[in-house]
Amino acid sequence: MARGILVATNQNGGRVRRVAYEMVSLAQTLAPGAVTALTFGAEAEKTAPELGRFGADQVVALNAPPYQQYSSDGFALAVQAVVERLDPEAVFFPATAWGKDLAPRVAGLLKAGLASDCIEVHRREDGRLGAVRPVYAGKAFATVAIESPRALFSIRPNIQAVTTHDRAGALLDVNLDVDASQFQAVVVDVKAQASDKPELTEADIIVSGGRGIKAAENFRVLEDLADALGAALGSSRPVADEGWVPHSYHIGQTGKVVSPTVYFAVGISGAIQHLAGISGSKYIVAINNDPDAPIFKAANYGIVGDLFQVVPALAAEIRRIKQEA
Ligand SMILES: Cc1cc2nc3c(=O)[nH]c(=O)nc-3n(C[C@H](O)[C@H](O)[C@H](O)COP(=O)(O)OP(=O)(O)OC[C@H]3O[C@@H](n4cnc5c(N)ncnc54)[C@H](O)[C@@H]3O)c2cc1C
Repeated sequence: MARGILVATNQNGGRVRRVAYEMVSLAQTLAPGAVTALTFGAEAEKTAPELGRFGADQVVALNAPPYQQYSSDGFALAVQAVVERLDPEAVFFPATAWGKDLAPRVAGLLKAGLASDCIEVHRREDGRLGAVRPVYAGKAFATVAIESPRALFSIRPNIQAVTTHDRAGALLDVNLDVDASQFQAVVVDVKAQASDKPELTEADIIVSGGRGIKAAENFRVLEDLADALGAALGSSRPVADEGWVPHSYHIGQTGKVVSPTVYFAVGISGAIQHLAGISGSKYIVAINNDPDAPIFKAANYGIVGDLFQVVPALAAEIRRIKQEA
């Protein structure tokens, strides 16, 4: 009988992203004492103490040269091999660009059902795992049951609180029979964009600009508010399409899906394709000079006004409050 949960994570220099800790914490609540984290790349073994602290009972660190650069099909073969060795009942992936690329390939290899971008994973009455995921661009939520013997889930960042345990994850050696010469595509270089801002998909606060900002140079008004708040910057799609900000800022159905505590939608009308990317936000604050803009229907708080007056005033007030604190 298959048991336990395997959590696939990516790491860099021995550090995983926060969503990995969220996933092992979630897995530990669903399969206590039977959570294995799988990490890839040079220094993968360095992730074991922290992954253990957040809920992994054991850690498989694939640090050999074939796993030091990402390969879509190669990593999928490796996950398949680990699954065949450990026989877990479920595999979790992060619903990030990495996980979204990898999870469907593994599902294909294992002939297993995959529920993607889940905001909840729970135990059903029959003892198997089920999930809740947004559908119709976030307008509704589907409860999903997977009928294949093994279930795969990709988990949206920021939906699970982390829990800590007083121990490190034990490293588990698995001898994989994966032939690296079979890998058909390998990432040869990654040019990471230098930024002092938090990563959008993991940010707690996001300040996001729409076409209402009118020109690339006006984005600095939002940067100033983001700096005051320690927030990440995002945008609607037209703003990225215009080249006013990098495409990595683009949030929505065809961009990034975010789930911060607070999302500031500034000069954004609230089209359904944009809302699809922000429906996981705890609070939405809309700033728009059109009182009939659809964003106000999705917002928890709204300010009707000219963003060029409201945003600098808000940034100044936040700085003042922080100084006093
Ligand atoms: C297949 C498909 C996929 C798409 N995917 C996405 C996606 O992933 N993400 C996305 O964002 N869009 C997406 N879109 C586009 C989407 O339909 C909207 O066109 C887009 O979201 C609108 O962007 P916006 O709100 O910035 O601009 P607009 O709709 O032009 O809104 C600008 C807002 O700024 C306000 N404003 C103007 N001046 C000021 C001011 N001085 N102060 C305050 N407010 C002001 C206006 O009142 C208005 O509400 C997609 C469309 C399609 C067809």
